[in-house]
Amino acid sequence: MADLTRKYDVLIAGGGNAALCAAIAARRAGSSVLVVEMATKFYRGGNTRHTRNIRCAHDAATDTLSGPYPEEEFFSDLLAVTQGQTDEALARHMIHESKDVLDWLPQQGVRFQPSLGGTLSLGRTNSFFLGGGRAMLNMLYLTAETLGVEIEYDAEVVDLDIDSGMFLSAAVQRVGARHAVRAATFVAACGGFESNIEWLKQYWGAAADNFLIRGTPNNRGTVLKLLLDRGVQETGDPTQCHAVAIDARAPKYDGGIITRHDSVIFGIVVNRDAQRFYDEGEDIWPKRYAIWGRLVAAQPDQIAYIIFDSSVVTMFMPTLYPPIAAGSIRELAGELTLDPDALEATVSGFNAAVRPGTFDDTILDDCRTEGLTPPKTHWARRIETAPYYAYPVRPGITFTYLATRVNKESRMLMRDGKPSANMFAAGEIMAGNVLGRGYAAGIGMTIGSVFGRIAGREAAKNARN
Ligand SMILES: Cc1cc2nc3c(=O)[nH]c(=O)nc-3n(C[C@H](O)[C@H](O)[C@H](O)COP(=O)(O)OP(=O)(O)OC[C@H]3O[C@@H](n4cnc5c(N)ncnc54)[C@H](O)[C@@H]3O)c2cc1C
Repeated sequence: MADLTRKYDVLIAGGGNAALCAAIAARRAGSSVLVVEMATKFYRGGNTRHTRNIRCAHDAATDTLSGPYPEEEFFSDLLAVTQGQTDEALARHMIHESKDVLDWLPQQGVRFQPSLGGTLSLGRTNSFFLGGGRAMLNMLYLTAETLGVEIEYDAEVVDLDIDSGMFLSAAVQRVGARHAVRAATFVAACGGFESNIEWLKQYWGAAADNFLIRGTPNNRGTVLKLLLDRGVQETGDPTQCHAVAIDARAPKYDGGIITRHDSVIFGIVVNRDAQRFYDEGEDIWPKRYAIWGRLVAAQPDQIAYIIFDSSVVTMFMPTLYPPIAAGSIRELAGELTLDPDALEATVSGFNAAVRPGTFDDTILDDCRTEGLTPPKTHWARRIETAPYYAYPVRPGITFTYLATRVNKESRMLMRDGKPSANMFAAGEIMAGNVLGRGYAAGIGMTIGSVFGRIAGREAAKNARN
């Protein structure tokens, strides 16, 4: 067990990608480092455990990336998904630094593999972790431990002693005892507040009771709230988050990737009233998958159903739960407790509006509807081959964007505009600086790796002075 009575150079709250990148960078810069992770060793790593890939700019193809992804293209993708709601200087800084991270992560033992195919279409832009997020974390932990970073599991930061923007100590709850842990600098890398349903309810009302949380139950925003209460500047819209459509049968927390549905583009999506409500074929999957959580959140009872037929059932990744099957649309409605007349009318109205085209799910094809509201602008094919299928879906919240404001050093800014004397933030807890809204696959890990590394480096420098 770490000695919680000594004063460390750098104290890091959290145990995911952002925390470990910060810990390694700070230790490599010569600091004594303590990581306090709320989870047990087995569950260490928060949402990072569930990840598969990271988006980094690069100028040429590599062994695992199929072509270049220039900084400018990354920035224009970010502008498109956020609709301009990003701190441009910080975002450009992150994208520039991400190039280096692509080399730095393998130097810490992380291995990449060529991307998966199918609906993900990320082979050029995103690097996939060999073995997924857990394997990536295992290498970061191993490297950190080898370098001499001290790691305390089952240790939750429950309070912070901060005086006029200067961190003094953190109250850490460990095996029933509370310790005041002192450090010259503090790095907050302990996630957003997505697992705190009561906090979500402040913005979403009772609807938040129907949200499912895709990742760790630990990201309750405890440290985020403490920091905002103690004068750190807030940025980001509290209602904005990354949210996808996940199986309504998934557990409340930690369902991970296997409960997510990638099948939206292959069928239609209807709500509790058996009505369609959005263009299922708007754009390719990586650019549009993250809007479906919010779309379902806005529907009555926060429930929707992806409806498709047997002609497409093998075209997407299977998930944990099998689809609900029936011999006719009427029967399917019965299984879903939807109004059979309404579902039949929606499906036949859709089928009648489908125009002939050449189906290709790897491009924005010419299969579309005509005269239908909302339209389906690509990949529209009639739903007419029995058996018919449905997945019930609910909003699956990945992470929230409300954040502590930081500068290019990852240093927190106080409400009076002054930089904090010794507090830094990285990862989800500051994601709202660059993600005002929307999402492009792999940016969560970019934010954690880039700002984690910067935070660790800068905290070490700060601790020396
Ligand atoms: C199912 C799923 C799949 C995803 N896939 C991808 C992907 O492929 N690519 C991508 O870029 N992003 C992905 N994301 C998003 C990504 O997981 C996050 O953006 C990223 O992992 C955030 O890293 P982090 O270190 O900030 O937070 P986390 O990895 O969540 O780590 C936060 C840590 O803080 C700890 N903690 C919380 N509160 C306290 C406290 N009070 N005291 C001490 N410790 C505390 C937690 O236990 C946890 O270990 C995915 C998320 C989910 C849920």
